[in-house]
Amino acid sequence: MSRTLFANVRILDSTGSAPFAGDVLVDGNRIHRISKQPQTLSGAGGSHSDGAQVIDGGGTRVLMPGLIESHAHLTIDNVDDLAKLGAIPPEENTLIAVHNARLYLDHGITSCISAASAKPRLDVVIRNEINAGRIAGPRLLAASPWLTVTGGLGDMRTLHTPHTESMAIVADGPEAYRRLTRELIREGVDIIKLVVSGDSFVPHAGSETTVMSEAELAAAAEVVHAHGKRMSAHARSAESVKLCVRHGVKVIYHANFADDEAIDLLEQHKDHVFISPNIGFTAIAAYEGSAWFTEEQVVEFGFREELAGAVKVVKELKKRGVRILGGGDYGFFVTPHGQNARDIDHFVRHVGYTPLEAIQTMTRFGGEAMDLPGELGVIQEGALADLLLVNGDPLADPLVLMDRDKLTVIMKDGELHKPPPAVDADGAS
Ligand SMILES: [Zn+2]
Repeated sequence: MSRTLFANVRILDSTGSAPFAGDVLVDGNRIHRISKQPQTLSGAGGSHSDGAQVIDGGGTRVLMPGLIESHAHLTIDNVDDLAKLGAIPPEENTLIAVHNARLYLDHGITSCISAASAKPRLDVVIRNEINAGRIAGPRLLAASPWLTVTGGLGDMRTLHTPHTESMAIVADGPEAYRRLTRELIREGVDIIKLVVSGDSFVPHAGSETTVMSEAELAAAAEVVHAHGKRMSAHARSAESVKLCVRHGVKVIYHANFADDEAIDLLEQHKDHVFISPNIGFTAIAAYEGSAWFTEEQVVEFGFREELAGAVKVVKELKKRGVRILGGGDYGFFVTPHGQNARDIDHFVRHVGYTPLEAIQTMTRFGGEAMDLPGELGVIQEGALADLLLVNGDPLADPLVLMDRDKLTVIMKDGELHKPPPAVDADGAS
């Protein structure tokens, strides 16, 4: 088994502690030992590191867990129109996903919870190829396409264009949800993604409406729970959030119009529910969107109200100990793939997080949301070795994590996806 020693690094372990100096020894795909005294694992008493490849952090480089994207769309391609996505044939779409899987790992994103696949089997195939080691990519929980009701987000059809596709499967009635959920689980998805609320992009069903019926959601939930799989949901309205909690949706996206009752419910279920607010798209559309939206559209779509709602809800949920996940909806025109780490900065700027807290939304809590608490998203002895060596201080400037050149080393599952450069001018790797 291969061994790698990260010597003389600043360790940002993402447990909530301040960074400290030390060494980290990786054995196989796990973190074997952590020393708080730099160069003790590699020095005279360094028999632990026998045969290890040594990567020297020069005392300044930061070793942190790989990033975890909680709302990934690896199968989409920076689109500005869902119908254009639907028009992409499966073959081309598969290649888009292969390309994006590598791109995410190149950006230090070592795990993804998918929030919908553009076609039913795309995420499944990509996940399987990554797990088999045939293509590069993050750990991936594979999702279904959006399951949406007639007239909901993703239903791009009209009476005279009834075959327009998007990234959704349109279905109505509990029986249809039961059958579709069974079928998608048969095809290998880990996650059934439901579109429970409307959205500002839906002309007849805005963000504060709840479009999916409880019977439809309950039918999908019955099948998902029977198979031990998981659900996630697009849920902006207060009622949609409550339905999701009651039926055991694990990751709830957006939740920006959650009311007091919804917030109380989330608090009661905080040991097993996660909120992924995905403020990035909204924040950019609200305040930096002039390249894509006119001022009239920003007002019409209500982006600023949506952001204000999300900020209020996230602040309250954080206070009550509900786990909040970072990342979200990268791969659309305003949020190109690879910029995902920008979400950490959004939490700092818009919600008042400290940089350390914001980094935990894309590390520790992501690991917990992937059912690997203490094993993924943290640097601890015994944890999985998904690690980034950063040439910069993410606590001083989280945006350093967006810069591929600053990610000197990227390790996933104990393997060096990006090995260190030969030797820098300062002698550090
Ligand atoms: Zn999404």
